[in-house]
Amino acid sequence: MFVLSCMRTQGGRGLAVLYGVLLLLCATLVQAAPPSALEQERIAVVFPAATSVSDPQGQYGVRAIHQGEELLGYSFETISVLTTPAYSGKPMNMQVILGLDGTLLDVYVLWHDEPILLIGIPEQKLHDFAAEYQGIHVDKRVVIGRTKDESAVTIDAVSGATVTVMVLNEVVMNAAHTVAVELGLVEPSVQIKSKPATIHMDQFTPADWTTLVGDGSVRRMLLSFRQVDEAFVGTEAEGVDAVAESRLDDTFIDLYTADLTVPTIGRNILGERQYEQIMGELGEGEHAIMVVANGAYSFKGSGYVRGGIFDRIQLRQFGDIISFRDLDHFRLSDTYAAGMPDFHEMGIFIVRSQYEMDPGSPFDFELLVRRQTGPLDSMFVSFDLAYQLPESYINRPPLTKAELAAIAEANRPLWLQVWYQKSFQVGVLLAALVVLVGILFMQDFLARRPGLLHKIRIGYLSFTVLFIGWYALGQISVVNVFAFTHSFMGEFKWDTFLIDPIMFIMWSFVAISILLWGRGVFCGWLCPFGALQELINEAARKLKIKQYELPWAVHERLWALKYIILLGLFALSLDSIATAEKFAEIEPFKTAITLHFMREWGFVLYAVALLVINIFTRKVYCRYICPLGAALAIPTKLRLFDWLKRRKECGTPCQLCAVECEVQAIHPDGRIDPNECHHCLDCQVTYYNDDRCPPLVAKKKRRERTKAAPDAGKPQIIPAVELDAST
Ligand code: SF4
Ligand code: SF4
Repeated sequence: MFVLSCMRTQGGRGLAVLYGVLLLLCATLVQAAPPSALEQERIAVVFPAATSVSDPQGQYGVRAIHQGEELLGYSFETISVLTTPAYSGKPMNMQVILGLDGTLLDVYVLWHDEPILLIGIPEQKLHDFAAEYQGIHVDKRVVIGRTKDESAVTIDAVSGATVTVMVLNEVVMNAAHTVAVELGLVEPSVQIKSKPATIHMDQFTPADWTTLVGDGSVRRMLLSFRQVDEAFVGTEAEGVDAVAESRLDDTFIDLYTADLTVPTIGRNILGERQYEQIMGELGEGEHAIMVVANGAYSFKGSGYVRGGIFDRIQLRQFGDIISFRDLDHFRLSDTYAAGMPDFHEMGIFIVRSQYEMDPGSPFDFELLVRRQTGPLDSMFVSFDLAYQLPESYINRPPLTKAELAAIAEANRPLWLQVWYQKSFQVGVLLAALVVLVGILFMQDFLARRPGLLHKIRIGYLSFTVLFIGWYALGQISVVNVFAFTHSFMGEFKWDTFLIDPIMFIMWSFVAISILLWGRGVFCGWLCPFGALQELINEAARKLKIKQYELPWAVHERLWALKYIILLGLFALSLDSIATAEKFAEIEPFKTAITLHFMREWGFVLYAVALLVINIFTRKVYCRYICPLGAALAIPTKLRLFDWLKRRKECGTPCQLCAVECEVQAIHPDGRIDPNECHHCLDCQVTYYNDDRCPPLVAKKKRRERTKAAPDAGKPQIIPAVELDAST
C-alpha cells in the first residue's frame, strides 16, 4: 500500500523505489539467514556428522542438511508452514528435523507465548512432550490421549496444558506432512481408509454400452487441443506442440475407463470367454481396468517399451499412486457390448494386490500429457477423471462400532478434539450455568429467603473462583473483546473461538445474559476476579473491618475512568493487538487467576494491592478501573428486561437500598443503574423484607395496629414522620 500511494506522486516515486529495494533486501536477508545457535544445536544433536546446512529454500523455507555431498535430512520451522493460534492466541514455532524417509527425527519448541506453562508446569514438560515425536513417520496419525484408532500413535497430554499440546500436535504433524509431500518424501494422503468393499461377483445384468456409460459403470474423459493448451499456459511448455488455430477444438483424446472385474461390466464388454481369461489372470484383491480411447493422443505412448512402465496413465486412491508396468498390461482387441464404438487404442491394466485398492471407494484416473521443453527436460500436466463404482455392484462390510468411532475421531476438526478432551470441564461449566439461570429465574423466591440466597451466593462465588477461574482458566478478559472485534473487521473464523471451549461457552453465555439481564450477571456471579474480591470483602465484613464509601458525587465521576481506560486500550488495539495486550495488564486477571499469582513481583503487588483495598471498600477495581466491565456495560443498554423490582418510595424518601448496594449502583433518586449493577440481589432481599423495607415496615405496623385496635377494619392514618424515621 505504501509503495502504491507513493507512486501516485512524482516526488514519492523515488521513495517508493527505495522502499521496494529495502523490502527486497530484508526479504533476502531473512531468506538467507543462517540457522540460530539453538537450531544448529538441535541439528548437531541429530546429525553429529553434518558438515553444512543450506539456506532456507522454497515456500516453506526448508534447509537441507549435508555431510559433504551426502544429503542427510531436512530442517524447517513450523511457523513457515502453519500459523495456527495456540492457547495464547498466537502461534507456536517448532523446529522439525525430517529424515529422508519422512520420519520425524527431532521436534523442538523454539518459541511460544503460552501463559499456561508458567502455572507450575516446568517449560521442560513441553520439550519432553515434543521429544515424543522422534521416530514417528509423517504419515502416521498422532492422537493426544486415548483413541479407538488402533493404527494411530498416542502421546499423553501435558496435564493443565491440553490445548497447547493439541495445537502443537496438529501443527507439527500437518506441517511435517506438508513439507514431506513438497519434498517428495511421501505421497499426499488425505483420507482415512475404511474396510475395503467387495464386488458382488455372483450378480450379472445384461447391458449395452449406452446403459453402462449412463449408469456410471464406464466413465469418459473428453479433451480438446484447446483444453490441453490452456493447461500449459504460463509454463515453460506453453506453445510447445501447439496446433493450428483451426484444429484447437478437435479431439485431443476421447477416453473411457471402467473396472472390468465387476461381472456386469466385464462380461458385457469382454464377452464370456475373454472375461473368464482375464479373471484367471487376477490374484486375490486385484482389479482389471479397461482403458479405451480415440483421438490424437496415445494413452499408452511408447515409454513403456523402453522403461517397462506406462508413463501416461496412473490411478490415485487415498493419495496413493497406482502405476502400471508392461506385465500388468493386456491387449484388448474384441469388445462385445452392443452399441460400443470402435476405439483405435484399447488395453486392460491390472491393479496389483500390493496397492490394496478398495473398489468401494472413489479413485482418480490420471492422464499425464507430457511436453518436451529441452533435449532432456519435459513438463507434464495431469487430467483427472473421477471414477466410483455404482453402489449396486458393491458389498460394503459393516463397520464395527469401534471402527466407526475411530474413523469419526480421525476426521474430527482440532477444535472438536479439544472439546472432547475437555468434556469434564465443559460438562461441569454447562451444568453450573444451568444452575445460575435457575437462580436468576427464581430470584424473587430466593430474595424472600435471605439465609438460603446468601448460602447459594457464597457457594456459587466460591465455585466461580475455584473451578471457573483457577481450575478451568475461564477468566475472560478485555483482550478477548478486542480479538473478537478485530476478527469481525478482518477474516472471521469460528475455529479461532471454538479452540478453547471454556472461553467459548463463557462468552456465549455472557452475550445471552447481557441481552436478558445486563452485564450484572457476569460481574456479579461469573467473573472469577470479581468473585474473589467479593468473597474477601465478605470475610472482612464478618471480621467487622470498617468499610469506607466515597461520596456519591466523587463515585459517580470515577465511573467514567473505566470507560476512558477501555477507549485507550481499544485505540491501541487498532494499531497493534500485542501492544493493547501489554497495556491490558491493568486487568489483574492474568496474575490473580490465570497464573495463580506466580509471576514477577510487580504484577503480584498490583493484584494484591487491589485485593487489599477491596477489604475496606468492596470491588473498587470493578467500579472504577475494569475495562472489561466497561466493555460489557455498553451493550447492557440493549437488555430486554428489567428484573430488579423498585417501589415508588425508592429514592424519595427511602435510601436504604442505595446505602446497602455494595457497588453503589443505585442513584440517590432510587434508579438502579444497569451499567453498574452486579445483580447481587441484595436490594431485592431488602425489597421483600417487611422488617427493613420502610414501606413494608409501615404496612406491617399498620396491619398489626389494625389487629390490635378495637376498631379493626377502619382505615388508619400513619404519620409521615414515622416513615422518615425508619429510613
Ligand atoms: S467489573 Fe471487571 S473485575 Fe469486576 S466483576 Fe466485572 S469484569 Fe470482573
Ligand atoms: S444491590 Fe441491587 S442494585 Fe446493587 S448491585 Fe445488587 S442487585 Fe444491583
